[in-house]
Amino acid sequence: MAKQLKPETLCVQAGWTPKKGEPRVLPIYQSTTFKYETSEQMARLFDLEENGYFYTRLQNPTNDAVAAKIAALEGGVAAMLTSSGQSANFYAIFNICQAGDHFVCSSTIYGGTFNLFGVTMKKLGIEVTFVNPDAPEEEISAAFRPNTKALFGETISNPTLEVLDIEKFARIAHSHGVPLIVDNTFPTPINCRPFEWGADIVVHSTTKYMDGHATSVGGAIVDSGNFNWDAYADKFPGLCTPDESYHGLTYTKAFGKMAYITKATAQLMRDLGSIQSPQNAFLLNIGLETLHLRMPQHCKNAQAVAEYLSKNDKVAWVNYCGLPGDKYHELAQKYMPNGSCGVVTFGLKGGREVAIKFMDSLKLAAIVTHVADARTCVLHPASHTHRQLSDEQLMEAGVRPDLIRFSVGIENADDIIADIEQALNA
Ligand SMILES: *Cc1c(COP(=O)(O)O)cnc(C)c1O
Repeated sequence: MAKQLKPETLCVQAGWTPKKGEPRVLPIYQSTTFKYETSEQMARLFDLEENGYFYTRLQNPTNDAVAAKIAALEGGVAAMLTSSGQSANFYAIFNICQAGDHFVCSSTIYGGTFNLFGVTMKKLGIEVTFVNPDAPEEEISAAFRPNTKALFGETISNPTLEVLDIEKFARIAHSHGVPLIVDNTFPTPINCRPFEWGADIVVHSTTKYMDGHATSVGGAIVDSGNFNWDAYADKFPGLCTPDESYHGLTYTKAFGKMAYITKATAQLMRDLGSIQSPQNAFLLNIGLETLHLRMPQHCKNAQAVAEYLSKNDKVAWVNYCGLPGDKYHELAQKYMPNGSCGVVTFGLKGGREVAIKFMDSLKLAAIVTHVADARTCVLHPASHTHRQLSDEQLMEAGVRPDLIRFSVGIENADDIIADIEQALNA
């Protein structure tokens, strides 16, 4: 579908374009396998000489249609769905890093990604250096080594809500001849398209706003097609030299701008198999059809909640980049002029104990691990996702012990604020 269509139209229409007599709605291709007429036809698929479906672990038409919609929304050349945001982040790095390699990553990222990169990938021989994303360019540059293969950051970090200076990160990455990978889960392409600011690869936990209804865990990797792998062929042998598992095919030569995603699909998905089920991709697509309607409502409600909290004298502090006094207000205005996301964090006077009492008193907002769906929900990282950390370790991770993560839904803002008010008074 033409890229010049507006995001609202892409949300509704991109990806699935039925031909005569085909279903108007994207069908669920609930089939592991696909039929061919001759042995030769199928052999060509196995050699990547022809595009086509043969086994759902590699590709499935439902998944591909949804991936194409996400690629169109981000302004990329291709995308691949994964079973979760975790697998998207793992594949995004593992597609260009192997044992002995290194990458640089913002320290303010989602806790699950922090663990994946810092602990689990280390066991595979891939090392990461975490950097303060707000540090000067020279300081971040100093973390690069000859074997560094990527720079990684989150547009808006979960749960600390720090806004990434994408242009700065892109400059640093490119000056070292490596791609910038950005996790764009919180703003979604409705509010920010990192490729327009120099990012090369975008990853998503589609579990959050993209699905939007908390029905399906999923992820996506999107390739801008802009990074010139061949210009740094010695750094990226996996893309620029023959793959023995495909009869010596070289991805950049055979697939050009699609090299990165083709390798991720044909090699990583083939071997590791973290596919999204076609059923979940179908549900994700229904979510995407209203993403452009939901995001502005999340932002409008979150702004109202943040403004209410910032004026309440029981509240110690509020983080929301939509507030004019927020540390990241200016960066947010630059990268997300139409709004950021629906997540607000704050602390109450009295700290941790008061936070727990407040949460237990909420009626409309539910205590759940999830974030970023239609229903307002709340989490206390120090008691839940980060409960194994001491107060000191929490501060190191940028998570204050009193931090309440409040994910504002798309209900009426007055009702959400009334719920907060009664809980603050309880
Ligand atoms: C939730 C989340 C992830 C992990 O995604 P899952 O779908 O839960 O595996 C990664 N990055 C960010 C920013 C997230 O919020």
